[in-house]
This record gives sequence, structure tokens and C-alpha cells, in this order.
Amino acid sequence: MSRDNYEVIIGLEVHAELSTKTKIFCSCPTEFGAAPNTHVCPICMAMPGTLPVLNEKVVEYAVKAGLATNCEISRDSKNDRKNYFYPDLPKAYQISQFDKPLCEHGYVEIDTDEGKKRIGLTRIHIEEDAGKLNHDDFGGGSLVDLNRAGVPLIEIVSEPDIRSSEEAEKYLRKLKSILEYIEVSDCKMQEGSLRADVNVSVRKKGDTKFGTRTETKNMNSFKSITREIEYEIDRQIDIIEDGGEVEQETLRWDDVSGKTFPMRNKEDAEDYRYFPEPDLVAIKLSEEYIENIKKSLPELPESRKQRYLEEYKLSEKDANIITSSKYLSDLFEGATKICNNPKAVNNWIISDISRILNETEMEPIEIPFDSKQLAKLVMLIDKGTISSSIAKKVLVEMFEHPRDPEDIIDEKGWVQISDEGAIKDVVLKVLEANPQSVADYKGGKDKALGYLVGQAMKETRGKANPQMLNKMFLEELKK
Ligand code: ADP
Ligand code: MG
Ligand code: ZN
Repeated sequence: MSRDNYEVIIGLEVHAELSTKTKIFCSCPTEFGAAPNTHVCPICMAMPGTLPVLNEKVVEYAVKAGLATNCEISRDSKNDRKNYFYPDLPKAYQISQFDKPLCEHGYVEIDTDEGKKRIGLTRIHIEEDAGKLNHDDFGGGSLVDLNRAGVPLIEIVSEPDIRSSEEAEKYLRKLKSILEYIEVSDCKMQEGSLRADVNVSVRKKGDTKFGTRTETKNMNSFKSITREIEYEIDRQIDIIEDGGEVEQETLRWDDVSGKTFPMRNKEDAEDYRYFPEPDLVAIKLSEEYIENIKKSLPELPESRKQRYLEEYKLSEKDANIITSSKYLSDLFEGATKICNNPKAVNNWIISDISRILNETEMEPIEIPFDSKQLAKLVMLIDKGTISSSIAKKVLVEMFEHPRDPEDIIDEKGWVQISDEGAIKDVVLKVLEANPQSVADYKGGKDKALGYLVGQAMKETRGKANPQMLNKMFLEELKK
């Protein structure tokens, strides 16, 4: 089998929970994590005789998402019923949009090795989320929690423009960051606020027709999406190379075994018996309404990035990392405004903060300190109160037990030693203990100085002022 003979085609259907306060057709709260079936009412429990009323914020947020992704906004849209039976769907239909979605024909731009690439968006439509089934480990049955039933979603359907798992990840990261910037979804993937159905097919290079695709449902981590795509590519190529045919299926991904498993055969649109929702009026949007939303859009990542290059002289690479997340970008700007040291703030975010986020698999939104506290950390180094090696330890504390850096330093006794007498004592002690290094230095080995400074740092557990140490050593060694 050679992958080189094949081309990979990928399209994503992304569901994002909108961060409206209330549900799409009733006034129940949307908040995550409440006790089961406490955020429910007769409407979202589908009691007979109840009627839905469309939450205007849902339309506003969806239009915002459409405008931020270069879509055309439909002036004349409507809701449709999508009929299917499942225990987490109390009405036995989902109110969604079929042939007149709110937004169409957009695109999201990603950076590839060959330059910028546009991933087309077929559509963005609004719909309601279903409830959740909790499989009872003790009783053996399944329990239904309807708190999520009626939480508003947008579904963002991409064109089959994606050609690798790497591009899929870039696309999803870009989309996530745009939704975060315009504040229509918190995009918390672990809580299921952002999840993707991943469609994958392969075809022999040179073929003009797409191969048969499989669709893997509800993927909610970047890592598993990459693994799933790679697995599906290999699996499909194996089938074709063995003379078989890929079946169009809906799959589920198992993270433990690293494999996909069939869920059901793919249903077609006609199986859903879509028809216009008779309990809701059409959605007619005026030019003025759309214009006002356009005006309310905040600065998007691309424009922030350009500004960071010019205003703060960040490198392209650093500006990309920082603006990839609204939360990192806000942290950067907030801290820089206070401490006036963009370079230092940039370095903290790019190196130590990013490393800790990676190691702990934390999302930027979960950073437990604010821009004011980061600015204070930078200023404490600038003022010489702490050395940068101590500051690294302070940062770890700020992640583990969030509080002001000053409090951490006080508590831990980490204030830098800048007292001349104290520094001199340490220097003399180190010189006496390391005659060989002294001789080396005097014999022309400049490196020996670094070793001596290192020893003095060790002696003071990193608290000595490094510039003063250096100076004092040079003075003493000249004697
Ligand atoms: P549904 O899954 O609801 O039937 P669509 O037919 O509109 O919806 O397709 C869903 C997704 O599948 C889209 O993101 C589209 O880009 C993608 N897609 C369509 N055909 C292929 C293909 N042959 N290979 C990979 N992805 C595809
Ligand atoms: Mg689908
Ligand atoms: Zn309700």
C-alpha cells in the first residue's frame, strides 16, 4: 500500500453551542453542569400543546458567526423539522434548518506551507441540541438528562476542501478562535461546546470523482480528530487495495483502541422527512439588522496579528501563537498596557505559559490568573525585586495556587538579594571554595566565570541579583 498514490478528501460539520443565557425556544438557562433535569420546562421536555418561541439572540449570534466567516446572510430564512427517533430527543424531531440556512457560501483561511488556503463553508444553520443519555453503571439502564435539550447550536458545514489531518486541525483551530473572538460560543471542547463530525474519503490520484466517505460523529479533541483521520485514511486505502469498496457509514471513534466502529448505516435526507416547522414564523432579516451586527463585530485574529507586528514588533511566529486564542491575546494586551513591556509579556506567553498549558492540557480560557497579575510578575523582574529564574517558580505557583505574585514572593521568602554586603559574602565564599576555577579564569578561561556565578546562585537558591554577582566576581578576580 502506498499512500502516495491516493488523495485524501475531508469535510467537517462543526457544532458549536451558543453562549446565550437561555435556550433556543424557551427561557430555561443553558448553563453547563447543573444537576440532571433541573434546567427544564414543559417546552424543552416536549409536553403536548407547548409552543416554541425563537430566541432572538440565537439569530444574532449565528449571523455574527456568518459575517465573521465571510458568509452571505440570508434575508429570508426559516426553521424545519428533522424527524428521527432517539431517547434523548423528547419531541422525536429536532428543529433545525434544511433548505434555507441563515448563512451560506463563506470561507475560513488557514496558513499552509504553500501559503494561505481558503476552506469553503457550505452553510451555517441554527438548531436545537438534544438531551444527554447517561449510561447507568449500576442499574444497567440509561438515564435521560434533558438539561441540554434546546440549548442553541450552530452547525458549520465545510466544503470538502480539506486535504490532510493537519489541514483539518488548522481549520478547526481557526474556526474555534473566530468563534471565541466574536464571543458567540465558549468553545469548551471537553464540555462538548464545540464538537465535529469528521467526513473522510480517499481517491486515487488523478481521479476526478470523490470516493465514498465515512462520517465519524462527535469528535471533541484535536488529538483524537488527527488520530481518527489518519486511521480512516489507512483503513480505507487498505480496503481499496484489497479490491474492496468503502461503505458509506456513520462511525464512532474509540480513543482507547484508536479505531473507528460502525454506528449505523448512513441515512439520507429523505429519511428525516424534513418539512417547514409549522409552529414558528419565517425569519426575515432587514438590511439594517445585518448592518448593525456587522458594525458590532470586534477586531478579528488576522487584524490583531497585523497590529502586533507593527505596534509591538512581535515576530510573525509569536504573533500567530498569541492571536490564535482570544484569551492569550487579551492576556497579552492587558498585561502590556499595565507593564509597558510587550517583549517580556510576549516571552512569558510564548515560552513558560505555553509550555505549562501544553503539559497540563489546559486551554487558554482556563488560565487561573489575569493580565494584571502577569503584568505584576513582569514588573517585579524589571524592578529587580526578583530574578527571572525565581519568576519562573512564581509563575508555577500562580498556576497551582492562584494569587498575586507579591504575596507568593513574601510567603516563600523569594525576594532577590541586592544587598552589596550580602552579595560580597557569597562571592568571597564561592571564590575560596573553588580555587581551580579561579586559576582557570586567570589563565584565560572566561567560561570559569559562568561556573562561579552558577555556584553563587546555587548558594543563594537563585535569589542573588545576577548583574551584581557578575560585577562583584569580576572585581574580586581582578584583584
Ligand atoms: P450530511 O452528512 O448531513 O449528509 P452533507 O452531504 O452536506 O451532509 O455532507 C457533510 C459533509 O461531508 C460536508 O462537510 C462535506 O464537505 C463532506 N463531504 C461530502 N462529500 C465528501 C467526500 N466524498 N469525502 C469527504 N467529505 C465529504
Ligand atoms: Mg452529517
Ligand atoms: Zn425549557
